[in-house]
Amino acid sequence: MKAAVIDGVGQPFQVQDIDIADPIGREVLIDVRASGLCHSDMHVAETNVGFPMPALLGHEVAGVVAAVGPDVTEFRVGDHVVSSPIHSCGHCRGCLTGRPYQCRHPQETQRTPGQGPRLSRNGEALTQFIGVGGFAEQVLVHENTVVSVSKDLPFDRAALLGCGVVTGAGAAINTARIRPGDTVAVIGCGGVGLNVIQGAALAGARRIIAIDLQPGKLELAKVFGATDTVNPADGDSVQAVKDLSGGGVTCAFEVIGLKQTAMDAVAMLDIGGTAFLIGVQKPETRLEVTPFGDLMSKQKGIRGVAMGSTNLKIDIPLYAELYLQGRFKLDELVSRHISLDQINEGYELLRGGSVARSVITQF
Ligand SMILES: [Zn+2]
Ligand SMILES: [Zn+2]
Repeated sequence: MKAAVIDGVGQPFQVQDIDIADPIGREVLIDVRASGLCHSDMHVAETNVGFPMPALLGHEVAGVVAAVGPDVTEFRVGDHVVSSPIHSCGHCRGCLTGRPYQCRHPQETQRTPGQGPRLSRNGEALTQFIGVGGFAEQVLVHENTVVSVSKDLPFDRAALLGCGVVTGAGAAINTARIRPGDTVAVIGCGGVGLNVIQGAALAGARRIIAIDLQPGKLELAKVFGATDTVNPADGDSVQAVKDLSGGGVTCAFEVIGLKQTAMDAVAMLDIGGTAFLIGVQKPETRLEVTPFGDLMSKQKGIRGVAMGSTNLKIDIPLYAELYLQGRFKLDELVSRHISLDQINEGYELLRGGSVARSVITQF
């Protein structure tokens, strides 16, 4: 099949012919109809994080089930599905207590060495990025990472539900459990930040303050439900948030991955507020927070968030249904449709700080 393979860090994607195995056990083979270009693929493609190459990246996938392994019970050929990078075993403490995003054995959705690789090129195994490998005509994944969606949902919209949408909206709805009347600040209004904003709006937040340096992103933030916008280029954004919220917000979300903005998130909280860290930080970053002044006296909390505390089999169909009812925005997140051959151009746009994102719809 056709796939955009990357051979090493810093190298471009190359569209090539590779082999994909037949489904075994609980695996599902999906004909990909839409595959989103996400920042985390770019991060792995350009930064040496020790990720094994050659690899097939891509992890926001929607498509049609083409074949199922003998032990698959949940899916049939022809089902419309979304595949997600959230992996869960289904039987550990995290999974059994309704928190599959805290799974202790996510590797159980991968093949064991004796089962042979899912993806290979001329007999050499290719790494399947976060168990998906979506920049290809087909993906072969475990059924725990797949969810059925309505056939009324367009594939390009559905693909975004797998990663960016659940990461943002889930952080507001599941992790922060925002309640009507809460006040919210969101630092960074890219695809994930916009979904934090729409999750907060859906949950009934009274005030949603969007913070970004790009005026275009702040305009889009208003479309997604921001009640106020702050551009740090105009002055102290922490003070601006305090002024707008009457002293500080209940929940502040950092969606960039910088030390300073993470500390800003803590600084702009009201007494008893919580800062949620979503943006991927450098491993060596240390935050300067005082346990006495910040955490104890002001009863503030700091919480790291992974994949929006998402239970994909519950949350993805929920967002899909709300979209079909006109109560959840996905159209505004898709800026461009491209072919697999245009993947390098698509990433060039994302690198340039493009407001929304490209989705591959031609393979
Ligand atoms: Zn992603
Ligand atoms: Zn588990």
